[in-house]
Amino acid sequence: MKDLMKVPFVDLRTQYLSIKEEIDSAIESVIMDSAFIGGKRIKDFEENFAKYLSAKNAVGVGNGTDALSVSLKCLGVSTGEEVIAPANSFIATSEAVTAIGAKIVFVDCNPKTYNIDTDKLKDTITQKTKAIIPVHLYGQPADMDKVVGFAEAHNLYVIEDAAQAHGALYKGRTVGTLGHAACFSFFPGKNLGAYGDAGAVTTDNDDLAVKIKMYANHGRVDKYNHEFEGINSRLDGIQAAILNVKLRHLNKWTLRRRQIADIYNEKLSDTVITPWVMPDVTHVYHLYVIQVHRDRQRLIKHLSEHGISTGIHYPTPPPFLNAYDYLSHKPEDFPVSFDLKDKILSLPIHGDMTDEEAVYVTDVIRDFYNAG
Ligand SMILES: *Cc1c(COP(=O)(O)O)cnc(C)c1O
Repeated sequence: MKDLMKVPFVDLRTQYLSIKEEIDSAIESVIMDSAFIGGKRIKDFEENFAKYLSAKNAVGVGNGTDALSVSLKCLGVSTGEEVIAPANSFIATSEAVTAIGAKIVFVDCNPKTYNIDTDKLKDTITQKTKAIIPVHLYGQPADMDKVVGFAEAHNLYVIEDAAQAHGALYKGRTVGTLGHAACFSFFPGKNLGAYGDAGAVTTDNDDLAVKIKMYANHGRVDKYNHEFEGINSRLDGIQAAILNVKLRHLNKWTLRRRQIADIYNEKLSDTVITPWVMPDVTHVYHLYVIQVHRDRQRLIKHLSEHGISTGIHYPTPPPFLNAYDYLSHKPEDFPVSFDLKDKILSLPIHGDMTDEEAVYVTDVIRDFYNAG
């Protein structure tokens, strides 16, 4: 058997050490200026991020979950109205819907892309449907032509959940510019991660951008002049300064993720089901998710004994979480998501991973299945 090598799932320490001087001086300058809330670093990051995506506006907020709920709120989605979202996302997607008093309507995913099954959308529409939230899950864009076509036919808002897909492309267009608004998370482990919670909304609608900016800052026009009641969900100065530094490195890290995925694809495709990527999209591999046909629990243990960390995204699809017991969903309501939950496995992938580590991971998996 191979010599043991430690392969972490993500490695934010190595990333930090590679850009330490830039990060340290950015943080220090915020502290020296006492520019903790508001100020030019936030404005700079909003401009830089919008430019990076070719979006008209980016508005910093406190986290990705708030990005979603604030977008829904400011688009005017209200109590009792319905919002469609995929059955296999992180709970934040559906939580944001419930947070504004709307009703979450789940739809199953496509078994190949793991993204929202656009053929099943027609079964979810009612008089109350107001919006749809496609999630670009694992870093692969959802089939946005179909989502937007459906939304136009039914007069719905489209809010992209791009929390896992910074820089991904759909038919040459950047994720974050494909709907009425798009929501990003900068949770530390995301492809572009802050050193705490942070998020942003992008939109080409200038009025919506202004409204979101105000809503996330107590409905403020200026310090003690409040146009309406909002919330406090701001991107802070230190996180904005960090994100400004890290944005400059994002393309390099994305390329590395894609190279690691190429190695995994090449060496694993005859052993497990490797990710299927739609033609005409650029997958940014926030997660590299395989499907195994047997012995997932034993494989996880075997990998762990060989120093390799893995994850499952997600072990229980939201409709089957206790949190949504009140919807009384059954496995047959979302058969694809239900079936996938026991087969999927996320392998280590990040912007500082080496070819050697990726090859080692594939060797350990191949040895496991070849040994029977
Ligand atoms: C991380 C994530 C979110 C929430 O982002 P936070 O910044 O943690 O609030 C929303 N949707 C998806 C798909 C995510 O992965």
